[in-house]
Amino acid sequence: MSSTSVPEIYGSLVFNDKVMRERLPKATYKAVQKTIQNGTHLELDVANTVAAVMKNWALEHGATHFTHWFQPMTGLTAEKHDSFISPTGDGGVLMDFSGKELVKGEPDASSFPSGGLRATFEARGYTAWDPSSPAFIKDGSLYIPTAFCSYSGEALDKKTPLLRSMEALDESAVRMLHALGHEEVKHVQTTVGSEQEYFLIDKELYKDREDLLLCGRTLIGANAPKGQEMEDHYFGVLRPRVAEFMHDLDEELWKLGIPAKTKHNEVAPSQHELAPVFETSNVAADHNQLTMEMMKKVADRHNFACLLHEKPFEGVNGSGKHNNWSLSTDTGENLLNPGKEPENNLTFLTMLMATIAAVDNYADLMRISVASAGNDHRLGANEAPPAIVSMYVGDELERVLEAIETDTAFSATAKKTMDIGAHVLPTFSQDNTDRNRTSPFAFTGNKFEFRMPGSSLSIADPNIILNTAFADALDDIYDKVKEFIGKPEFETRLRATLKDLLKEHRRIIFNGNGYSDAWVKEAEKRGLYNLKSLPEALPYLVADKNMKLFEKHHIFTETEIRSRYEVYLENYSKTIHIEALTMSEMVKKDFTTGLIAYENAVATEAARKNAVLKESVSKLEEKILKELDGYSEKIGTGVEKLEKDLKKVEKITDSLELAKSYHDVILKDMDDLRKPVDAAEAMIPETYLPYPTYSKLLFASR
Ligand code: ADP
Ligand code: MG
Repeated sequence: MSSTSVPEIYGSLVFNDKVMRERLPKATYKAVQKTIQNGTHLELDVANTVAAVMKNWALEHGATHFTHWFQPMTGLTAEKHDSFISPTGDGGVLMDFSGKELVKGEPDASSFPSGGLRATFEARGYTAWDPSSPAFIKDGSLYIPTAFCSYSGEALDKKTPLLRSMEALDESAVRMLHALGHEEVKHVQTTVGSEQEYFLIDKELYKDREDLLLCGRTLIGANAPKGQEMEDHYFGVLRPRVAEFMHDLDEELWKLGIPAKTKHNEVAPSQHELAPVFETSNVAADHNQLTMEMMKKVADRHNFACLLHEKPFEGVNGSGKHNNWSLSTDTGENLLNPGKEPENNLTFLTMLMATIAAVDNYADLMRISVASAGNDHRLGANEAPPAIVSMYVGDELERVLEAIETDTAFSATAKKTMDIGAHVLPTFSQDNTDRNRTSPFAFTGNKFEFRMPGSSLSIADPNIILNTAFADALDDIYDKVKEFIGKPEFETRLRATLKDLLKEHRRIIFNGNGYSDAWVKEAEKRGLYNLKSLPEALPYLVADKNMKLFEKHHIFTETEIRSRYEVYLENYSKTIHIEALTMSEMVKKDFTTGLIAYENAVATEAARKNAVLKESVSKLEEKILKELDGYSEKIGTGVEKLEKDLKKVEKITDSLELAKSYHDVILKDMDDLRKPVDAAEAMIPETYLPYPTYSKLLFASR
């Protein structure tokens, strides 16, 4: 790829707006645009025309098949490929694709998680075309982004509720904007840019570790003598093989129209990050799924394994996915842009207050939206945001809020010009706010950055909650001022409402250090949630206030939310179950092989010395053997306990009780077992172990 060819290859595998404009008959193009922009129903004759044009375009790009591409509740993507062939009866074939095939698919839904939604006899499911996310070519197939639902119409995927939440927000925001005098606005969309963290590990090393292969994270392993403390990896020079991987990845993503923008090394050794330019939420969610898939695929070509797990290694940073979120109008305004005078920008203040109220009212749901067995290892540890949801607004906005609270005039601080002290350097003005790295939900200039999502998570989940909670808070503001719309006292009333709201939700704003113990205490005093694990958090999903929220905005029916509740719990328990089995097997087979081999070598050496020198000169050997023996004993009882507890836990039938036991009993057993294993491993030379150690994994993946 040369730099001049980038504009040419960008989006070259995408049936995007440009292709549609060029190839569709004018009336058809307009009809599709109307569907995309207004969410209106697409007529079958329009679909037929689009399908025919899409097929020809796909054939030109080498596709022989098409697939409805969807996002079941596994959090992964699913696809089933059908060829375009249609036998002509005389031994030949035509390449055929109808409007019906474009708009609707009928995959067997029985093998996807449904949380009991769908009895096995009702196996039928439907996929429905999402025309607002463009189709694309991959691996010789035409991919059609779709939503996935059951025979009776319940959502079985992550896209359907995301689209519903975007519609809810659109309606609420437009109504409020009209009240604020922005009559020209017809639609408001949410925009998302998701920064993606990942690890690249040498493929050969990766393959030698059962825990990485089966669980995506290491279950045992002594820390390497070096970690991230030298701060020499973050933003460091890219190693040649990594640079080549990133170059290739960019090219693949650009071909798919995914606006990959920034790439750099992250904090932990062998950890990296990619950030795209933001897009409309549902497209961003589709693109993030594709990005994760491409990362794995391209890594494989470069003899790397790409780890997307939230906590692949103990003792160094885990991986997250920052969800940058904002609102933009069809007239091109970013509604979270404070402008030059935020204190007089009533639209901005309304949107800001709605966000503050939304996050405070539904902090439990925000936490749940990022809960997973993997992410639980990260949240609350001293690296990622804590499990407590709070908001950071920065100094400038804090002063605006204080002015609102106290009915005083706000005076902006003059922008400071930076003087770096050498005349050759350019001067520029200082940003009004510094960054706060420890806040889970931070205002960053003209958007909010939600930092709790885990690296492997589908961003649909947090965005469903954010959009819905925001729509709800905005409706609440609207209801309080609606009788004054168009009247002279409207602004006064609105300001008073915002002031009341601020008082009510002040507790969620925290501009200090989110990692400190003092904050945990302070948050408790403020009555904020501190939901440390998925089993602790999940019961709130079905709390009354939350059910009401979902039903009111038509995001989930009660049945749908209960099904999700089951799916999350089941996924959590299964994940830890597999981890526990893998750990016990790995300790018994791989680790013990190394341990015995080394003990043997040390004992043989001690015996040899004693035989030759006829006196006990094997003090060092004795010491090693004694110490290893001590660990062996603990490891033996540890494995026994883990296996016995697993048998007990397996018998629990209630899904919440089961998840709780996996958390309280099994994870604890695993922690207890890991300690002596890691201590012993630190004494055993690498050559005796049948799997690579942390030093190799983190520092030799070059
Ligand atoms: P920062 O350096 O503060 O993290 P960047 O400009 O580097 O900000 O953006 C980080 C991410 O935020 C990128 O993915 C970017 O596309 C996204 N982003 C920027 N503006 C918006 C917006 N208005 N809405 C959603 N995401 C945005
Ligand atoms: Mg960020």
